This record gives sequence, C-alpha cells and structure tokens, in this order.
Amino acid sequence: MDTRMVLLDRNHLQEEQLKEAAELLQKGELVAFPTETVYGLGGNALDPGASAKIYAAKGRPSDNPLIVHICDTDALPVLAKDIPDGAWKLAERFWPGPMTMILKKQDIVPKETTGGLSTVAIRMPSDPVAAMLIRVSGLYIAAPSANASGRPSTTKASHVWEDLHGRIAMILDGGPVQIGLESTIVDLTGEKPLILRPGYITLEEIRSVLPDADFDPAVLKRERNDNIVAKAPGMKYRHYAPKGELTVFEGDLEDVVEAVRREALLKEAQGYKTAVLASEETKDRYPGLTVLSVGKREDEEGIAACLFDTLREFDHMGAEYIFGECFRTDGVGQAVMNRLLKAAGYHIVSVGRK
Ligand code: AMP
Ligand code: MG
Repeated sequence: MDTRMVLLDRNHLQEEQLKEAAELLQKGELVAFPTETVYGLGGNALDPGASAKIYAAKGRPSDNPLIVHICDTDALPVLAKDIPDGAWKLAERFWPGPMTMILKKQDIVPKETTGGLSTVAIRMPSDPVAAMLIRVSGLYIAAPSANASGRPSTTKASHVWEDLHGRIAMILDGGPVQIGLESTIVDLTGEKPLILRPGYITLEEIRSVLPDADFDPAVLKRERNDNIVAKAPGMKYRHYAPKGELTVFEGDLEDVVEAVRREALLKEAQGYKTAVLASEETKDRYPGLTVLSVGKREDEEGIAACLFDTLREFDHMGAEYIFGECFRTDGVGQAVMNRLLKAAGYHIVSVGRK
C-alpha cells in the first residue's frame, strides 16, 4: 500500500485539510495523526475490521487494547456504562488533555478494540489536529501509539514513516508533538482509582481531584518477572526499546557517570558500537565515547519531549550497546523513568556505596 504523507500548516489549520483523512477513516482505513502526547495510529473504533488493521500494521499482540479518542464528553456514556462521579470530575479537570480513563464498556464498543476486555480506555486529546480530525470524521477513533509494536513511540511524522510506511493509508505531519510521552492511564473500574501508566499528569494532580487515587503496584515494579500482573496489558510487553542493548545505571550521579564511562569504554574496546545516554550537565564527561544528551536534568518536561527521539537516534547510529544515566523519579520524571526502564527491559544496575 502507498502511504501518503500530508504536511499540515498548524497556523492555518482548516477542516478542508483533514477531509481526505476523515474519508479514509470512514472507509475503515488507517491514518496516523499527531496528538499532544505522541503520534496516534487512528482507525474507526466501532469497526472491528479497522481495529484488526491497527493490530496488523503495528504487529501488536491482539490482547493489548486500544485507546478510543473522542472530541466531546457526550461520547462518554455512548462508549462507557456505570460511569462513576470520579470519572466526570477527572474529565472536567483534565480533558481535553493527556489523561486516559478505563471504564466499563458499552456493547457498541467491539471486543476487537478492547483486546477482548469488558472495559474501554477513553481519552479526549487537546491537540487541535487530533480534535479536528475526530470532529470532521464524526467517528470515535481508536489510536494506539503509531509505532511498530515494541519500538519507541513516535513523536515526529518521520518516526511514523520509519515504522509504518507501506502499511497504512496516510500520515498527517503536524510537526513534533508537544509532550512526547503517552497519556496517564487511570482505571476507574475498581474500588479506588489506580494509575496503570504514569504520564505527563502526575499522581499528585490526579489526587487533587480524587484524593484516594494511587499507583497500581505494577507501575512501581522494577523487574519483569515478579508476581504482579499488569492491568494495562500493554505494559507487560518489552516496550520502547532501541535495537541496541540498553543498560540504565542508578545511584549518586558521580558514581553513575563513573560506571557508565567504565562499562561503555569496556564494550567499545571489545569492538562493539557503543553509545551513552547522558544529560546536558554530564555529556562532556565521556571523552572518546559517542554521547547523546536528552536535555537538562532539572527540565523534566524537556527530557520527556526528547526521550523517544533520542532512543531512535541510537538506532540510526547503529549502536549495539547503550549505557544510560538515570533521572529524577518525581513528577513527570516518574513517567520518564518508567519508559526508560522498560526500554532497558528492566536491565538496571545500582552503583555506589551503600
Ligand atoms: P498505546 O495506545 O500504545 O498508548 O497503548 C494503550 C495502553 O492502554 C496499553 O498499555 C493498553 O494496555 C492500555 N489499555 C487500553 N485499554 C485498556 C483497558 N480497557 N484496560 C486496561 N488497559 C488498557
Ligand atoms: Mg504504545
């Protein structure tokens, strides 16, 4: 299939520019589009055939459900039932924006879209392109991240092209996304609200609306093989991974820099193409090594915006081994480290004196 890349002018966005994309979606075809979090791979959420195409294009396991994107809270009772008050409160505070809610699904939502579950994930994106596309198409749009399954999520149209060209009808190029990490997922189907995936909206912000909210235990786990079952099925798979083997070092920064330098030089000496994932503050501490910086340590939002692009950059360099520093784990840093540890397949080394 030929994939058409359509460049959008965000300053003069008009419905006319999205008409063709909307028509493709109405015909059951797939269109990738920018959202404020990452690029999404869109298909008609109520069309089981379109959902099947999404799984096929991404190579995504069929038990990993899709998030349904809406442009109006009126859609909530159409797609979900037994909606608790807390859901309306979260919607009021965080929509449109990078927050997804898990609710009990209505029969209208096909199991193909929810990976066989009786719950549905719903989000109202704030990106004007995403919002306009949903409105113009008149559909509810299922849209997982527009990457090949297991690869880093896509934050630029060129990333989408890299992973999915030839497999989908169209890519809407709206430039780099604003946030760069996927939405915060809040499960509202249990006794208390649980965050299944950390994101740009932090636990503290969710608690400002729902004080009893907490992280699902699976979010905080540091290994792949413990006994905690991931409730967001997507979070159990190896994810966001560059092609090279990534190891993340944690501890005091000085100890981390020392260990990263030592290990990277060792692999380099063994003849492997080796690279270092560092910060602006530390990037000059690795003379003789190939280094990419994700930004300034205190600028967590900047790091979030750069992370996936940087992980893909290691692939472009052909890095076989990547040694990474750790970052702060509060606020948005929690989501950054969650993605980084998954990208490393939880290959974490603690360094320094204890
Ligand atoms: P992505 O669309 O690539 O951001 O992935 C969507 C994430 O939402 C995956 O981790 C899914 O497992 C999770 N998700 C979607 N629907 C549900 C649901 N009904 N229950 C729990 N997690 C869900
Ligand atoms: Mg994804």
